[in-house]
Amino acid sequence: MSIPKEYIPHEIESKWKSAWNESIYYFDWNENKRPQYVIDTPPPYPTGNFHIGNSLNWCYIDFVARYKRMRGYNVMFPQGWDCHGLPTEVKVEEINGITKNQVPRAEFRRLCEELTSENIKKMRETMLELGFSTDWSNEFVTMDPSYYVKTQRSFVKMHEKDHIYQEEHPVNWCPRCETAIAFAEVEYESRYTNLNYLHFDKLKIATTRPELLAACVAVAINPEDKRYNDYIGKAIKVPVFGQEVKVISDDNVDPSFGTGVVMICTFGDKQDVRWWSEHNLPLRKAIDKNGYMTAIAGKYEGMTISECKEAIIGDLESKSLLYDQEHMEQNVGMCWRCKTPIEILSEKQWFVRINPDEILSTAEQIEWIPEHMKVRLQNWTGTMEWDWCISRQRIFATPIPVWYCRKCGQTMVAKEEWLPLDPTQNNPPVNCECGSNDFEAEEDVLDTWMDSSITPLHVSGWLTRDDTLLPTQLRPQGHDIIRTWAFYTILRSMSLTKIKPWDTILINGMVLGEDGHKMSKSAGNIISPDEVIANYGADSFRQWAAVGGTPGSDVMYRWKDVISASRFLQKMWSIYRFSMTHLENFDSDKNKRNLKELPLVDQWVLSRLNKVVISTTKSMDQYQFDEAFKQLRGFIWDVVADNYIELVKSRLYGEDIDDKLSAQYTLCTILNTLIRMLAPFVPFISEEMYSRMGFETSVHLSEWPVYYKGDIDDDIEQQGELIKDIVASVRRYKSEAGIALNAPLKKIEIYATIPDIRDIAGATNSKVECMPGTPDFDYVPVEIKANMGVIGPKFRKKAGNIISKLNELDPKVAHEQVSHGNLVIEVDGEEVELEPEALVIEKEVMSGGREVDVLDVKGIVIVIVK
Ligand SMILES: [Zn+2]
Ligand SMILES: [Zn+2]
Repeated sequence: MSIPKEYIPHEIESKWKSAWNESIYYFDWNENKRPQYVIDTPPPYPTGNFHIGNSLNWCYIDFVARYKRMRGYNVMFPQGWDCHGLPTEVKVEEINGITKNQVPRAEFRRLCEELTSENIKKMRETMLELGFSTDWSNEFVTMDPSYYVKTQRSFVKMHEKDHIYQEEHPVNWCPRCETAIAFAEVEYESRYTNLNYLHFDKLKIATTRPELLAACVAVAINPEDKRYNDYIGKAIKVPVFGQEVKVISDDNVDPSFGTGVVMICTFGDKQDVRWWSEHNLPLRKAIDKNGYMTAIAGKYEGMTISECKEAIIGDLESKSLLYDQEHMEQNVGMCWRCKTPIEILSEKQWFVRINPDEILSTAEQIEWIPEHMKVRLQNWTGTMEWDWCISRQRIFATPIPVWYCRKCGQTMVAKEEWLPLDPTQNNPPVNCECGSNDFEAEEDVLDTWMDSSITPLHVSGWLTRDDTLLPTQLRPQGHDIIRTWAFYTILRSMSLTKIKPWDTILINGMVLGEDGHKMSKSAGNIISPDEVIANYGADSFRQWAAVGGTPGSDVMYRWKDVISASRFLQKMWSIYRFSMTHLENFDSDKNKRNLKELPLVDQWVLSRLNKVVISTTKSMDQYQFDEAFKQLRGFIWDVVADNYIELVKSRLYGEDIDDKLSAQYTLCTILNTLIRMLAPFVPFISEEMYSRMGFETSVHLSEWPVYYKGDIDDDIEQQGELIKDIVASVRRYKSEAGIALNAPLKKIEIYATIPDIRDIAGATNSKVECMPGTPDFDYVPVEIKANMGVIGPKFRKKAGNIISKLNELDPKVAHEQVSHGNLVIEVDGEEVELEPEALVIEKEVMSGGREVDVLDVKGIVIVIVK
């Protein structure tokens, strides 16, 4: 079958997409010969759009998975879907024109599941387009009972260990999402606000949150602050609401902020929570779960927070209780999903106990790539003011398997064997200890990170197999979720199994738009992987991912990188096509060659090839995909295409059978080796090339090339480089002299010892001889010319006649005269004396009486006989 000249990615990629048997990527659970390599693949949120950031991360994962398989590992590259959460609820409300409370819980959940399934289908399609070697036999969907049974059992187990508990405690609350959120979900943003100076009855106080006056439970001053010392322990009246609160002293009050007097509310911020608990202050809730003012806010009850703020400021002003306002910048905590400023509300919630020491020591046992990303986890650990709040007041999430006895109030946590279940749909199968079977279901559900923080446990067979595969080998993830996914996973893995979740964590960066900014709809710089594939194919996209940057660093998307990637595919295809036409009748099994018997140029290229195998393997082991791919590309382009093929063409087309077989053997070895190293990066073109070479199995089942130390020979390489340079220099010479590249030269003499010059002769189509010693050159003058820069100004009108006279002279005689002094000539009957500077004597190089040109290659003299 002839090989087409053009490489057309779409044809080849769609062909292999349907021809590939996906089961070759399945993890073998029953095998114990190969070492396991289990990847804790991120389960993306099913938005329906597998975006470019996902794609970058998955390219990295696929490079590793394919490489490790070729290195003889039993690889699991599973794929999960992290389904639960608010965005899907919002989408379902939008699509169906309902709010979640208008339909029964089970029905609302069903609508969410339906949408999620559709979205998963779309994203799966993009993943297949990109040629990922996913193990679909290990797919998991967190909303499926087969998965969330594990989330629920993990809840029960941790509750039994007292690692999970329920408590009324202040938590971060998003009034818009109407749910508690964890610290990791709070983002801080700088905003402008007013600092309001108020009169209390005895003191003046500055506050940014006058709407919380109803929740004021104390006033604090610094004990060192002489201005206010006398007030400590006294009662003070809160304006507007009139409640009496105590003046307390605390070292953390900053005397230079505002008036130096602070009001403590439940709760304005995290500092309020600290003071409230340290000083045992009462609790006054002024804001409810939906962000409205409560009854203690009196006439402001039912207002939103901002309405209340406005109204109170108006009232304070009219009563002259507000005496100053100051514009100031403030760090405001916001919900990371909807950007609404969070409140701190005290509610009964479920918490996971955080053990910072255990997380830090586990992080130390994990290899971080890049290493500095570990610092982000370390910095985060220990900054949380309270434990991980895991209960959410939503619907589409894993139910908390708990009921409360209506009679005695006892909490009943489900037994593991009852799970999975939804307490709002099922009663417990046993009665309460008090004998009652009248239960109220827990309606709160679990934080979605409770699902996704057990992914390594799930893929390792935790709770489904006797022996788990823990720890897994690799966790690939973005740096934006170190404080959530990485942190929670370490915490949960240690709590549930006492085994670290992974050996290595590989952090990928974010993808920036072509303008260098974060991709966003408003910036209009979003690129979808589907768009790139439609234009240049998946193999080009994957090359961009490989060379775009080192893991951990942000990567800019650039069309020109993809375009040059597609050119590289075409180049590789041309090399392949050329080689294959010369390998048609070559039997690689029958024609194995001993390296030392090969022509020097073959030994040279194979030595270089072995070095590329070594360095690429090393880069792959260190997850330096950019380095690995650049080395391959550089070798293919510079060494193979630009030099080796030019050097061996004459042997391939020539009559000498043995020389030809050597070239064929070498080309075949190069192709076979390179195609296998390209396979993890560009799986489609690699498969196409490999299959056309007569291999019956997939390139993706082949072994990664091994290198032979014995094939590396620095002396041979030096000689090979010299041959390469000599040929390049002769080709350049020909083209500058206007000689056709394949036109023979009379003879090329090389003043050096090169043991094997057949490919120099072949590539230059000329007779070549190595010469001993150094050549003798004669410089024979062939023309004598005037240096007009000197003669013009000096002789003016006479110059023309001087030039004519010079032309008449015998260059040799003139040169002889000049070498002893000035040249004297007769012009218009007068003697004219010309200094050597006034003359240009052109010489020809002669060697052994022959006219020659001389080239210098790395200090070696090359004589070209004309
Ligand atoms: Zn929110
Ligand atoms: Zn009871």
